[in-house]
Amino acid sequence: MTTSTNGTFDRRPLIAGNWKMNLDHVQGITFLQKLAWTLDDAGHDHSRVEVSVFPPFTDLRGVQTLVKGDDLEVVFGGQDLSPKDSGAYTGDISGQFLNRLGCTYVLVGHSERRTIHSETDEVLNEKVHAAYRHNLVPVLCVGEGLEVRQAGGHVEHTLEQLRRGVAGLESARAADLVVAYEPVWAIGTGEVAGPGDAQEMCAAIRAELGTIFDTETAAKVRLLYGGSVKAASAASILRERDVDGVLVGGASLDVAEFASIVRFEQHLVTD
Ligand code: PEP
Repeated sequence: MTTSTNGTFDRRPLIAGNWKMNLDHVQGITFLQKLAWTLDDAGHDHSRVEVSVFPPFTDLRGVQTLVKGDDLEVVFGGQDLSPKDSGAYTGDISGQFLNRLGCTYVLVGHSERRTIHSETDEVLNEKVHAAYRHNLVPVLCVGEGLEVRQAGGHVEHTLEQLRRGVAGLESARAADLVVAYEPVWAIGTGEVAGPGDAQEMCAAIRAELGTIFDTETAAKVRLLYGGSVKAASAASILRERDVDGVLVGGASLDVAEFASIVRFEQHLVTD
């Protein structure tokens, strides 16, 4: 992440909390209230750093009501969406419904969806297009497993997921895309890729976006790192030039820890 001469970031950092299948609709509201109070008390400047949470679908209506009612500067998104808009797709959730619930973002292709639900790059590409059809910003998750990393194929593997995921998108749409680089071996394992690893992959992703679209578009896309991020590791990763935010799983379920990640700029100053 780089800053311009007046101290603002070139791209507004995004700190995103993926709750996964945790926090029911009551717990989710309590959590979000506490997070908002904690950030307010700390004087967090939301115009500098954007905060998003990704609750389970059943929490979204409550989250929307709280965010609207209390005028919270937190945005939110779905953890998945259907590639279809409506119809006989039992158990699926349309992007249209997420949009109606005030979602800004939607996760697409989280490694748990790719693995547990066997989602292919082709389906994920349809989901990316579905997100845009419903004015949702897709957070496209890409990243390699341990075997691929050990064999040295992580860059090509990840870029192939990227190319397939964004196929058919126009540059004008792609500028607000978010891509999360999440090495599967670092998710929920306590293993964090080093800042250099995160930068290597994010730089490769940005260069590839420049080839797929154009360099101007690529310079606007926000790239997140995800994989066992904690308050102690966030600042050093976010200091890297092409890393514009983090996608946080486990640590996003602890108010103090997550708020501290959101406030990573404090650590940049004191490190
Ligand atoms: C995630 O779920 O996207 C994630 C990165 O999880 P964790 O932070 O727990 O590794």
